[in-house]
Amino acid sequence: MSLNIAQQVQQKRDKKFYLLVFGCQMNKSDAERLGQILKNIGYSETAKEEEADLIGVVACAVRQKAVDRIYGQVRNWQLIKEKRPLITMLSGCVLERDRKMLKDKFDLFIDIKKLDTLAEQIQALAPEEKLALPDFFDITPSYHSTYRAYVPIMTGCNKFCTYCAVPYTRGKEVSRSSENILTEIKHLLEHSYKEIVLLGQNVNSYGLDQATEIKFPELLKKIDALSDNFWLKFLTSHPYDMSDDLIKVMREGKNINDYLHLPVQSGSDNMLKRMNRHYSVASYKELINKVRRILPQTAVSTDIIVGFCGETEAEFQATAQLLDELKYNMSYLSQYSQRSGTAAAKLYKDDVSPEVKKQRWEELNQILTQNSLDFNKTLIGQSRDMLVDFVDQENDGYKNVGKLSNYVAVHVYSDHPLPVGDFSKVKITEAQAWGVRAEVV
Ligand code: SAH
Ligand code: SF4
Repeated sequence: MSLNIAQQVQQKRDKKFYLLVFGCQMNKSDAERLGQILKNIGYSETAKEEEADLIGVVACAVRQKAVDRIYGQVRNWQLIKEKRPLITMLSGCVLERDRKMLKDKFDLFIDIKKLDTLAEQIQALAPEEKLALPDFFDITPSYHSTYRAYVPIMTGCNKFCTYCAVPYTRGKEVSRSSENILTEIKHLLEHSYKEIVLLGQNVNSYGLDQATEIKFPELLKKIDALSDNFWLKFLTSHPYDMSDDLIKVMREGKNINDYLHLPVQSGSDNMLKRMNRHYSVASYKELINKVRRILPQTAVSTDIIVGFCGETEAEFQATAQLLDELKYNMSYLSQYSQRSGTAAAKLYKDDVSPEVKKQRWEELNQILTQNSLDFNKTLIGQSRDMLVDFVDQENDGYKNVGKLSNYVAVHVYSDHPLPVGDFSKVKITEAQAWGVRAEVV
């Protein structure tokens, strides 16, 4: 029996938080609100400190006794962090003076008045959470959607990139049975779902952990054959094992989208080696060129980390050059942040200053903006399907907002609202860095 989507989300939400409250009734109420937000973003509460992925302290630091107790705990957590990933967070009524002293001892300080920034802060600290919690961090969710479904096909990762916490927090790769996946997607399509996004940290390894299971290209082919007229995407591919078979299935598929997310992380061979990525810049470029030769329409996006341990200016420039050369239509840029328990935390020094990381991020962001604009310009004049996400009434008309099959955002002004959750034919008229404008055909 296949799991429904809500159950799968529940399964994926296996990260736990533990809250310690030192203080009065007010602090308890703060902790309740904080706990609720953590639950909303996919954590569940545990009463056992030793199994927590995130430990939060809600303290009344007005009293010295509480401050002393915090110091005592922090030392223990430091020891845990040497062995496994752990996020520590401080909140509550913390005085400015104590806050300054305690700030460096925690990964996050959350102002209780600004709880709404919590998810963003956790993600900045742990960007890999994005895939783990797609319903929250993606711009347009969600599992509650009646037309777009994120379907996990596997969990965990065996790659052990040195900076990444996923192999520790989510464990080894485990693939779901293809029978379960196919039954679930069939059910979704019968209920008129329009877009299916397959999820896994490294979908190309699908099935490798099960001797009798089919592999990813075959799984994709079978899903593609389930019906006509739906969109099919998958995230994320690792360049090391993206096969020719997969490219062939993408080319022959009738529903598989013109979209590929292929994280490169860095444009320097030395950095790639230190990151344990198992490919070179040259082999990565060859792969992208092959994809573009065989699938010329495909929009390719990537992930990049700036300021990884030991990254020199020349190594960073190599990344900037690669970004410039490969002209991705989208790049997700992150500044390296050390994750406890990972190989990089043990082996290397996090020695690029926050100012330099920020500056490098901004430099890449400029290139990315230009590339997106250039890519979007190539779409002008094309007639395509748009999947409508929402409609706003504006002045004397309607602004329809949605996506193209290649994940490019699209805005359409019209006299009548377009049907939300369904495809509409539109013609692209104008390009911007954020996406395109189009008109109803
Ligand atoms: N499995 C995917 C990505 C998963 S994590 C892959 O192999 O590419 C999503 C992105 O978060 C990564 O691609 C990386 O760019 C970023 N990331 C992961 N750990 C990070 C860290 N410690 N600091 C900064 N960025 C990180
Ligand atoms: Fe993390 Fe690397 Fe696995 Fe991606 S492939 S989840 S970056 S260890």
